[in-house]
Amino acid sequence: MSGRHSKHDLERTPDDDILRDLEKRWDDAPSRVLRWRKDQDVHDLDCDGTPGWDGDRDDGERLVAARAAELSELQERLFADGRTGGNRSVLLVLQGLDTSGKGGIVRHVVGLVDPQGVAHRAFGVPTPEEAAHGYLWRIRNALPQPGYLGVFDRSHYEQVLVVRVDGLEPEETWRAHYDEINAFEAEIAAAGTAIVKVALMVSRDEQKARLRERLERPDKYWKYNPGDLKTRARFGDYLDAYQEAFERTSTDVAPWHVVPADKKWFARLAVTELVLDALRSFDLGWPPAGFDVEEQLRLLDETG
Ligand code: AMP
Ligand code: MG
Repeated sequence: MSGRHSKHDLERTPDDDILRDLEKRWDDAPSRVLRWRKDQDVHDLDCDGTPGWDGDRDDGERLVAARAAELSELQERLFADGRTGGNRSVLLVLQGLDTSGKGGIVRHVVGLVDPQGVAHRAFGVPTPEEAAHGYLWRIRNALPQPGYLGVFDRSHYEQVLVVRVDGLEPEETWRAHYDEINAFEAEIAAAGTAIVKVALMVSRDEQKARLRERLERPDKYWKYNPGDLKTRARFGDYLDAYQEAFERTSTDVAPWHVVPADKKWFARLAVTELVLDALRSFDLGWPPAGFDVEEQLRLLDETG
């Protein structure tokens, strides 16, 4: 589970021993366990499950905390690579129904790294300007530059989810998007972006409890949107739309990961591991100096 970056390559931290113990609670790599499988039916998913993970909540939260050092160091290496001519970036695509915890992932997982290296974008109902362009226009404009960890809270996938369920485009139009999306993602992957697609799957019961909480707590009213009930009424249609999106757009360069999200701590743990995996896959060291270090040291000394 230590990935391609052997530990000696990274600074040792006090968390190392805790980490070695906790990562044993995964009985298989999260990227394998959570990856969409062709025979999978999302209607049968146990949204309250913790596939591949033998630990409890406390273990999960401690592992996320212990991963922070490696996550932020690899993100800094990525940033340094981008600053010195590298072309690589990571794009985390977060999809999920209302209350599935997309915002919590941003706060608790993406929040572990330096915000200067993060390019976050949430996609809502297209503005008039966005609607005047093709649906990939606003997406392309928001892609992470080299060196960045891009995060999409909702994405181009809305074009085969809400657009399908609400009938915002004729079927032949939204159906064409699957192939368009695959071609688009292949293009950005070839240009150096590691795409991490995550669907946070909340159950119908848990969604109700979370919506109720938003209505019972004044500090959560701001998260509630009366329109969420209309979306909830189409829960089954959304599952159908997710199922087909997974079937049609889970590719080798950009596979889907289906993450049970009734346990927020598990979803956060899973996404931490998936993002870490993407960063490790670059196998980045620190960029060499683009100047003569000895000479610069000498010149610095001469400045008195
Ligand atoms: P929220 O994420 O709670 O701020 O809600 C954003 C809303 O924007 C959701 O209801 C989405 O379904 C909606 N939305 C996002 N992208 C699109 C799109 N391409 N077309 C229509 N609605 C969209
Ligand atoms: Mg909402």
